[in-house]
Amino acid sequence: MDTKELWQSVLGELELQITKPNFQTWFKNSNLSEKGDDYVVISLESIFAKEWVESKYHKLLLKIIRNFDPEIKEIKYEVRPSTKPAVLVTKKKVELPIETESLNINDYSIDPKTNLNSKYTFQNFVVGSNNELAYSAAMAVIKDLGKKYNPLFIYGGVGLGKTHLVQAVGNELRKNYKNKIGVRYVSTEMFVNEVINGIKNKRMDGVKSKYRNVDVLIIDDIQFIAGKEKTQEEFFHTFNTLYENNKQIIISSDRSPYLLSTLEERLRSRFEGGMVADISYPDFETRMAILKVKLQLHNPEIFLSDEILGLIAEKFPYNIRELEGALIRLLGILKIRKLNPTRENIEGLLNEITNQRVMMIAPELIIKTVGEFYNLPEKDLISHSRKKELVKPRQIIMYLLREYLKYSFPTIARKLGGRDHTTIMHAYNKISRELLKNHLLTQEINLIKEKIYNRH
Ligand code: ADP
Ligand code: MG
Repeated sequence: MDTKELWQSVLGELELQITKPNFQTWFKNSNLSEKGDDYVVISLESIFAKEWVESKYHKLLLKIIRNFDPEIKEIKYEVRPSTKPAVLVTKKKVELPIETESLNINDYSIDPKTNLNSKYTFQNFVVGSNNELAYSAAMAVIKDLGKKYNPLFIYGGVGLGKTHLVQAVGNELRKNYKNKIGVRYVSTEMFVNEVINGIKNKRMDGVKSKYRNVDVLIIDDIQFIAGKEKTQEEFFHTFNTLYENNKQIIISSDRSPYLLSTLEERLRSRFEGGMVADISYPDFETRMAILKVKLQLHNPEIFLSDEILGLIAEKFPYNIRELEGALIRLLGILKIRKLNPTRENIEGLLNEITNQRVMMIAPELIIKTVGEFYNLPEKDLISHSRKKELVKPRQIIMYLLREYLKYSFPTIARKLGGRDHTTIMHAYNKISRELLKNHLLTQEINLIKEKIYNRH
């Protein structure tokens, strides 16, 4: 393998292991400028990139490089501004997407009129015990638009199929009614942006008519409306207009309406007035079925036995996106390394994939995730402020650092702006005790854990 081939292979593997933005930012203009018997020199385009890559990715790089060439013991880094275009790994790798979000399956397309993605259909949606209720509610909505279950409120953790289900409803309706009904899908983030820009540019009329003149409005991840008062106001009026005209509203959320804590009460009671259905974790059989559907979708030419699929299904019980992502990565790695899908190979690769995740959970990530979950600034959480709303989230951070990362109490105390370690102990005990009797807290912490886990 010459230097160039080696670097292409390393980048290919790296691309599978880190997020797309990180890959683009740090490795776009990188190069392997030299290869000795037991070392390589990687050149990066700026001092900043060099320092960053050296401190964040050294271990990973070494591991990947050694996979291809076990003789390599050392990586040296240098700065060499590049004038060449970005390395064209993406071209070689079109069939190996990094994240399932950016999947490149053939029928991937977003209809500008409805904003629906055509890849989410009922044909490739597996109905299992985890989503039965949500699925039949969705079917009832399709049959009895705007009347039976309005709004339809679907909730469940990350990667469990909310977006897929609500978009499938939209696509199914478009198919049944052709262009006769107006369907509009929007993520809450996008809706928030539109409202903010509408207000800023005095174009609220446009936003209003866009969302109030549809027959079916699908709004995804409504939890992001928390704390955005102007958007809540606008959404409330949109909701009422549609509702009064018997137009269908479909909402998804990562938590039940009861846990949407910073939501205006009037909105919450609207949500509870319709049909609320949850999606939970898929059981083993459902995961197997999903793997089969996905294999068919992504790599119909490859055959994986039930035994092999079972190994994969076993490993990822809590998140279908992750299950799907693992399958795609496995297929990619098998291809790159020219391996057969034997039990032994698959077990090894699965360990590789899962170990990396645990290793990469940083305390900062826990603090950040808790902050986002409760819509509180990180710096307030680690400050010594005694504001009431900070107390519980802060205790949850302490609990998670202990429970999740197994940090000692004094270490946690230091990480969190120098507190007394007895404070941490107290918080840990308090949350542990409370978890035994408080069902809502358990749900909250599970959601937070899921979010942390899913970011890495
Ligand atoms: P969420 O919106 O709940 O975070 P998504 O709807 O984005 O999750 O689902 C994540 C991935 O898992 C998507 O690629 C989706 O197609 C797939 N998925 C989830 N549930 C199912 C299912 N029941 N059948 C087939 N694929 C599913
Ligand atoms: Mg989603």
